[in-house]
Amino acid sequence: MAQVYNWHLGRQMEYRFPEAHPQYQFAAVFNINRCIACQTCTMACKSTWTFSEGQEHMWWNNVETKPYGGYPHNWDAKLLSMMNRYAPGQVWDTTKADPKSAPYGQFGGETIFEVAANNNLPSVAIGYIPPDDEWTAPNIYEDTPRNRGGDPPPATLPEHKTWFFYLQRICNHCTYPACLAACPRNAIYKRPEDGIVLIDQERCRGYRKCEEACPYKKAIYRPSTRTTEKCIACYPRVEGTDPITNGVPMETRCMSACVGKIRLQGLVRVNADGTWAEDPDNPLYYMIREEKIALPLYPQFGTEPNVYYIPPRWVPRPYLRQMFGPGVDNALANYEAPSRRLMAVLQLFRVTQTIIFKFEVQEGEKLREVNVNGKTWSIYDDTVIGYDKNGKEAVRVSVKLPFFERPVQYLNSI
Ligand code: SF4
Ligand code: SF4
Repeated sequence: MAQVYNWHLGRQMEYRFPEAHPQYQFAAVFNINRCIACQTCTMACKSTWTFSEGQEHMWWNNVETKPYGGYPHNWDAKLLSMMNRYAPGQVWDTTKADPKSAPYGQFGGETIFEVAANNNLPSVAIGYIPPDDEWTAPNIYEDTPRNRGGDPPPATLPEHKTWFFYLQRICNHCTYPACLAACPRNAIYKRPEDGIVLIDQERCRGYRKCEEACPYKKAIYRPSTRTTEKCIACYPRVEGTDPITNGVPMETRCMSACVGKIRLQGLVRVNADGTWAEDPDNPLYYMIREEKIALPLYPQFGTEPNVYYIPPRWVPRPYLRQMFGPGVDNALANYEAPSRRLMAVLQLFRVTQTIIFKFEVQEGEKLREVNVNGKTWSIYDDTVIGYDKNGKEAVRVSVKLPFFERPVQYLNSI
């Protein structure tokens, strides 16, 4: 095992391979607060990549209802309890927070790799292969709230007594993928140009070690080919080689199709040591590293996942802290009363399919003042401009949405 630096954990950790990082990293921000669970993303992916024989149970993108839903069933609760049996207590030391290298503090518990190594388990990471019945009913417990029964109490922020939320899940194209580390055939690789993690179907022999090790259960066995498959991040679109992209990097199918406008995907520049190159004009860098409103899913697993979530505002904080780490309170404080620049960047979600590498904000007039948590917060009609990989303007959108009135002669004309 080698020692590698995991900036989510704020410390070194054990991994099968030494540090080797891509030039850019595929990354995304999902705003949980806006998801309506329409499953358009799920079907956009399914109809593009997993519609064939043997792929019936394969949902590379799924949207599950938390806390009870999950696909495969109970994937996170099962792994968390397994880890807790071997290494009880997962403590974060937030006094060791450092904005550059350890923004959330330092994790004092054990990752999936460390639990396996410290307990002489016969695999590189603690995990399990879900039995077949757990790969059924992908949307089990949809809309099932916590605190059922009796009259629900009135819903008031900051936390609702009766609650659920939708969790959107794809492969995280992790920095330290457990699937890749677990493969005895070395059939899984991380691309140097964009950090996308792929399984070489020629090399795969279907040993299912990746399925066992992936803590997010996003490597899925296909019985008809006896190989394992996973999300390929729609790489021809991200590369700009798909004919519809006109040669410019484009977001994936699940991102582009999102009806709730919750998703923004991009590429962030990575230094040779794995840290993100400082790039505050990249919308993802800005939201994740500067404002810290978007957080990794179960960072304690240790794979350094590259999909980040703006947590739901109404959910009890202890549940959110277990799921997204200790950055939750800061993330929600910054999201509830966004800075002027953040408010502008939040307008970029789903206004173009082109990947935005850089943004700039043009200031507009003040629209109004409102009271947020006892403080005055002002909203401005600023305009945000997004640029593609070549520096060409791809989109321009303002905070105040334009208002169109249908001319009287066209009323009821549809
Ligand atoms: S989410 Fe799972 S399948 Fe995807 S890169 Fe990470 S470990 Fe591999
Ligand atoms: S398309 Fe968007 S809003 Fe609909 S379920 Fe998927 S993530 Fe949620």
